[in-house]
Amino acid sequence: MVAREVARRRTFAIISHPDAGKSTMTEALALHARMISEAGAIHGKAGRRSTVSDWMEMEKARGISVSSTALQLNYRLDGPDSDDITVINLVDTPGHADFSEDTYRVLTAVDAAVMLIDAAKGLEPQTLKLFQVCRHRGIPIITIVNKWDRPGRTPLELIDEISERIGLTPTPLYVPVGIAGDFKGLLDRTTGNYIRFTRTAGGATIAPEELLDADAALAKEGDDWINAVEESELLSEMGQDHDQEMFLAGQTSPMIFSSAMLNFGVRQLLQTLVELAPPPQGRAAIDETVREVTDPFSAVVFKVQAGMDSSHRDRLAYMRIVSGEFERGMVVTHAQTGKPFATKYAQAMFGQTRATVDTAYPGDVVGLVNAMALAPGDTLYVDTKVQYPPIPSFAPEHFSMLRAESAGKYKQFRKAIDQLDSEGVVQVLRNDIRGDASPVLAAVGPMQFEVVTARMKTEFGVDTSFQPLPYTLARRTDAASADELGRQRGVEVFTRTDGAMLALVSDKWRLQYIEKEHSDLTLEPLVATA
Ligand code: GDP
Repeated sequence: MVAREVARRRTFAIISHPDAGKSTMTEALALHARMISEAGAIHGKAGRRSTVSDWMEMEKARGISVSSTALQLNYRLDGPDSDDITVINLVDTPGHADFSEDTYRVLTAVDAAVMLIDAAKGLEPQTLKLFQVCRHRGIPIITIVNKWDRPGRTPLELIDEISERIGLTPTPLYVPVGIAGDFKGLLDRTTGNYIRFTRTAGGATIAPEELLDADAALAKEGDDWINAVEESELLSEMGQDHDQEMFLAGQTSPMIFSSAMLNFGVRQLLQTLVELAPPPQGRAAIDETVREVTDPFSAVVFKVQAGMDSSHRDRLAYMRIVSGEFERGMVVTHAQTGKPFATKYAQAMFGQTRATVDTAYPGDVVGLVNAMALAPGDTLYVDTKVQYPPIPSFAPEHFSMLRAESAGKYKQFRKAIDQLDSEGVVQVLRNDIRGDASPVLAAVGPMQFEVVTARMKTEFGVDTSFQPLPYTLARRTDAASADELGRQRGVEVFTRTDGAMLALVSDKWRLQYIEKEHSDLTLEPLVATA
């Protein structure tokens, strides 16, 4: 039973630079899986802005997505009446660079990534960063060149850019018929056939496809078809044909051209996920034993979030199931504390829509309500104990002192800090000189501070203010080095909640100077640890 469920599951995330079309593509996927009947239903046609994953006021104001949620689609590749269902879990990643840490955590929960690129812009900074994480984790990548309905580069230019800049070899499964800005259809390189698309009004519904053989395609599209055929042949000559092993090893990337807005190429992405993306696999625990997907239940918490619903404050922990069957109500063990955790209120979530989950399988993402004890990276299990390796955390580069505006709110302030700390929203640093009333928060990006201020106010009713500190990097140190470091100009030593001692340093020149003058002091980079 579990093996069957696992075999038909695909869990992935879309990685892209803001504005490449992630929300639009998400909606197009939902449309194709017939979860929604018309595009625009989720994020409103006017702005085509995501309300799917919007939950904070600030998020709405900025039009960015701060949270990570998961969307489950039941997709029937053979048509709406087929019994052959693939369960597709799309884990949403925040797009803004400041939330990259959150995105990295999400990437620990997926088995594949779709790298979505704007046809006119090519590789952009955020895509590159996310790609590095995928590569580091060995996650196979499917590349989508989106917005082909608008003027952009040529397929070969884009392919070259990807190969040269990131060393990933694109192996297009389809090449576009018609240049960027004149998107007619796709040449299916596997069959040599032509898939011709028809636009629908406003791109609101699935674009009808017509399947033509090469002769009919030539008669219909003339030079556009000839160009596509030539491109495909050139790619074959260069050895850029799909190779499943190389794809799974993260060396090549099946590529598709799309217009998420017109729903062109979306079915082809779904087909690629079904046919080529890997199903969930077993995972190695800290002690290096592997828990297979068919072993008893286990899961990893990859994201903790509070304040989804201001009317009843709660705290949701998202877990990705690694092995076994999950049943709501099941009592599982929290590996970090050894304590039982009741899963009475398990939910599948996407944005503001919640549905109760009764059973779930490896690859699925389930939100656990009121999960006060759970933190990102934690393991839950039944039966024999298992503990998975912690999720890497990233070195902070921004440091600010946080203060409550009114001393009377100190108690709530403390409580709020503890909460945000345990969620991993920011890292909390303290030292004796500054005292407890003004902790220092460390973040990967400055926008994390704004999230703190907003949540302090809405969830805890505390007005707070920030004072940025003149440090730009953190190093791990120890008690033996602390005193001497504390005497250095441009350095301050703190203790993080997990007990680690951190030296904050003003800039890299100061760090180099201290390292040279005091080579006996401990100053280690904060590599990906937990
Ligand atoms: P995200 O920031 O990556 O989630 O991007 P969105 O999905 O919000 O899209 C950003 C903008 O690009 C919006 O105005 C979309 O309507 C537009 N867009 C998305 N996909 C396409 C596409 O395939 N073609 C065109 N022409 N516009 C698109």
